[in-house]
Amino acid sequence: MIVVMKKTATDKEIDAVIKRITDMGLQPHVSQGEERTIIGIVGHTQPIDRNVFEMMNGVEKTVPILSPFKLSSRDFKPEDTIIRLNGVKIGGEKIVIIAGPCSVESREQLLETAHAVKEAGASILRGGAFKPRTSPYSFRGLGLKGLELLAEARDETGLYVITEALSAEKVSLVASYADIIQIGARNMQNYALLEAVGATNKPVMLKRGMMATMQELLMSAEYILSKGNNQVMLCERGIRTFETYTRNTFDINAIPALKMMTHLPIIADPSHGTGKWELVTPVARAAIAAGADGIIVEVHPRPEEALSDGAQSLKPEKFAALVREVKAIAEAIGRSA
Ligand code: PEP
Ligand code: MN
Repeated sequence: MIVVMKKTATDKEIDAVIKRITDMGLQPHVSQGEERTIIGIVGHTQPIDRNVFEMMNGVEKTVPILSPFKLSSRDFKPEDTIIRLNGVKIGGEKIVIIAGPCSVESREQLLETAHAVKEAGASILRGGAFKPRTSPYSFRGLGLKGLELLAEARDETGLYVITEALSAEKVSLVASYADIIQIGARNMQNYALLEAVGATNKPVMLKRGMMATMQELLMSAEYILSKGNNQVMLCERGIRTFETYTRNTFDINAIPALKMMTHLPIIADPSHGTGKWELVTPVARAAIAAGADGIIVEVHPRPEEALSDGAQSLKPEKFAALVREVKAIAEAIGRSA
C-alpha cells in the first residue's frame, strides 16, 4: 500500500505517518516526488486498515499496490527514476552508452578499449574482473588485478566503471572500485547477493536471468530496493528460448513493457542478447527505438583474441558507427545521446 501525502503536508505530518508504520512493525519507504511525498509500506502479509492512515493529518489518500512488486512499480513512483553519477544521468532524456570488453584481460587491452569507447561517445566503461563462466576451466577474470586496472582506466579517461560482483562476500571489495555494481543474469535470484548490494550506496545494474520473467526480474529488484538502495537499473540481456541460431533471444517486448511497469531505468544488452557481433548494431538500434534508457555493448580491439565473448564483441570502428546510429534514433524519438 502507499500513502499519498497532501501537497501541503508538513514534515511533522510525514514523520507521524512514518512512525505509525514502524510502530506497526512495517517498513516505510519514502519517495519525495516533485509535488508531493508518497510513502510506501512494505513488509505486511495481512491487509492493512487503510482508515488508520486516511484519518491522519496531511494524508490525501491511500492506494493499494496490487502487483507483487511494490517499490519498483509505477504505482508507487509514477515518475522515472534518474540515477546520477556526477555528470552522467541514467534514466533521463539522454540515453547512456556503456561499453568495454567482456573481461578485463590486460592493462593494454583495457586502456586501449577504454580510450576507443570514450572517443566514440561512451560515458561508462564495462569490464568483468570476476567472470561467471559456464565452465570452471574457462578464463574467470583477473580478480583484484582487474578491479585495479578498471580504476586506472577510470583515472586515465574519466569514464565511470561498471563491473560484476559474483558473491555477497565480494560486494564491499567490488563497491570500493566500481561506480556501478553489475549483478549478472546467473545471479539474478541470488538473494544474499541482492541484499548485500542493497545495503551499499552504489548504483546497481540488475541483469535479467536467462530464464526469468519480467515479474521475477522486478521481484529481484525489490530485494535491493527494500534494503534501502533505490539506485537500481534493470538490464534486458536476452532470454533462453528454443531458438539456437542466436545465443539468447533479445526480448524487445521487455523494453516498453518494463517501462510501463516500473520507474527504474532500463538498459539493453544487445551483445549477450544476440551472441553475434553482426546482430549487435541492429538490435541496439531497435532497443533505443523501443525506449531503452541506454545500451551496454561489448567492445574488443581484437575480438579474435578475446578471452571471453569474442564472437559478440564489436571492433572499435564498428562500435563508433553504432553510437552514431543510435544517437540519430534517440533524437528521432525526442531523446538525445
Ligand atoms: C557480462 O556482462 O559479461 C555477462 C556475464 O552478462 P550476463 O550476466 O548477462 O550473462
Ligand atoms: Mn560477456
